[in-house]
Amino acid sequence: MCPLRNLNPKKSYVEKNEGECLDKQAIFKKVTQVEEQISELYQELGGLKEQIVELIEENTRLTLENKRLNQLVDHAAEEKKKDEKSEEHGKEHHHLFRLYDEGFHICNIHFGRLRTEGDCLFCLSFLDKSSREES
Ligand SMILES: [Zn+2]
Repeated sequence: MCPLRNLNPKKSYVEKNEGECLDKQAIFKKVTQVEEQISELYQELGGLKEQIVELIEENTRLTLENKRLNQLVDHAAEEKKKDEKSEEHGKEHHHLFRLYDEGFHICNIHFGRLRTEGDCLFCLSFLDKSSREES
């Protein structure tokens, strides 16, 4: 009993009365076909392996690129924050200096009061400290 006899129902090998011989030929034909299919699948598998390698390489490249871009974004955000801070501090210093120049105390001791005796050492040391912090 040929196990492949019923694989192709359109052809009946038995009807030709040479059933067994044809069955053997059919088996060989089938084996050859399967061999070809295996070979094709093997090639396909090889192609898929190459694609996987390419995808892994691309993924690694993109991961690194993404990491680098994130670092750049973080760095830029930090720089912006620093700039804003120093700008604020600069404005503050400028404002205090103008207040002192207009004749008011800006020191902790007499803050906001009118200076009546010329320069105030506390104010000057405060301005000096403030301008040194700025740079
Ligand atoms: Zn003062």
